[in-house]
Amino acid sequence: MSCEALRIANFKNSSAIHAHFLRSPRFFLGPVQAHRAYNNQTKPETERKRGIVNLETLKELYVNELRDLYNAENQLVKALPKMAKGASSDELKEAFEKHLEQTKGHVQRLEEVFEELGEKTKGKTCQAMKGLIEEGSEVLKADGEDSVIDAGIIVAAQKVEHYEIAGYGSVRTFAQLLGQDKSAELLQQTLDEESEANELLNKLAEDIVNPEALMEPEMASASSDR
Ligand code: FE
Ligand code: FE
Ligand code: ZN
Repeated sequence: MSCEALRIANFKNSSAIHAHFLRSPRFFLGPVQAHRAYNNQTKPETERKRGIVNLETLKELYVNELRDLYNAENQLVKALPKMAKGASSDELKEAFEKHLEQTKGHVQRLEEVFEELGEKTKGKTCQAMKGLIEEGSEVLKADGEDSVIDAGIIVAAQKVEHYEIAGYGSVRTFAQLLGQDKSAELLQQTLDEESEANELLNKLAEDIVNPEALMEPEMASASSDR
């Protein structure tokens, strides 16, 4: 199809959509209300009630994110011992053991945050953490050179830390905005520990991965010729 024909076809398509849209009563609603009206029309009663979160207020978003983090931290309490066990470097093992203890503290802090809010302590499956842990377990199962596998474990762990840093940065700010001062402080403490864990992993990656030793033989000799 020539460009001109494509342009006309696109125009026809979009004008047909526009005409349909203009006839629809949803035209008179803003995009958010239209989306809700659409949902209410098409979703069966049960689906509206089950599994769909209400996000009308910042507080609702705050609680929703806290539940995600609460579940994510609990998943990590189970996963970190496996990562410690799978690591070959003693320093890396130690780092995971230390972060496991910190992570148990993160769970407790979230419980205090729910309490300050007067909300029931409840998690909601964090699909992202499930996926990140799943990727990490692929590395743990891999065959290969110990230090390369350690480097892979570090990558997986840093992805986890970055996810948590994003989550805690947001809920800390929400707590501040909502005047939950005690919670804002607790969430900041956890955020700092996640950042420190990430920094430590950066440092360990440099110590553990000795590029010269891990290069293909030809590449190593080429780089030592330089
Ligand atoms: Fe954590
Ligand atoms: Fe999540
Ligand atoms: Zn962490």
